[in-house]
Amino acid sequence: MRLLEERIQKDGEIIGNDIVKVDMFLNHQIDVELLCEIGKEFKRLFADRPVNKIVTIEASGIGIACITAQYFSVPVVFAKKGNHRNVGNDIYTGEVFSFTKGVTTQIGISRKYISPDDHILIIDDFLANGGAAKGLIGIIEQAGATVEGIGIVIEKGFQSGGKELREMGYNLKSLAVINSIDEGKIIFG
Ligand code: 5GP
Repeated sequence: MRLLEERIQKDGEIIGNDIVKVDMFLNHQIDVELLCEIGKEFKRLFADRPVNKIVTIEASGIGIACITAQYFSVPVVFAKKGNHRNVGNDIYTGEVFSFTKGVTTQIGISRKYISPDDHILIIDDFLANGGAAKGLIGIIEQAGATVEGIGIVIEKGFQSGGKELREMGYNLKSLAVINSIDEGKIIFG
């Protein structure tokens, strides 16, 4: 998605040699007009799938998922991180290793909000090693629901998550794929 790639080039910051900070328009300040274009693009890419629910993970996936959900006319469910005191006992849980924070976190979704009838599109802001996406897939599959697709705003193609999820057979589509970060310059695929 050219508009997104241009925005990453313009406003993205590179931290170390593998983290891209997009706080200017996606992860802290949010450009809602850009999010609408992102939502429309996800709708176009997954138009052939019978999606009835979007699932994401708190916190940065929520805004993207909600705007995208408007184009699908479906609800959003987000996995909560931590010990789930306010979700109730009846929850599906999984573990996610956070690439950016270097810690493993428990995630959970109430059993009330996912059922075997659900056809789910997973949405997230970044894909690195695939921990977040695999954690969500684990929960969705525990519930007996179907993963119809995985929509990622920014995939870092030089990390392993995209290759692994595609090899596992998931219908993964990313709006911008960063192939490499070379001397402070972002190269797209
Ligand atoms: P993964 O679980 O695929 O290793 O990493 C994806 C998750 O980590 C996303 O939910 C995202 O929040 C965070 N993440 C991974 N890489 C980056 C990055 O380069 N920049 C930002 N802002 N978040 C990232």
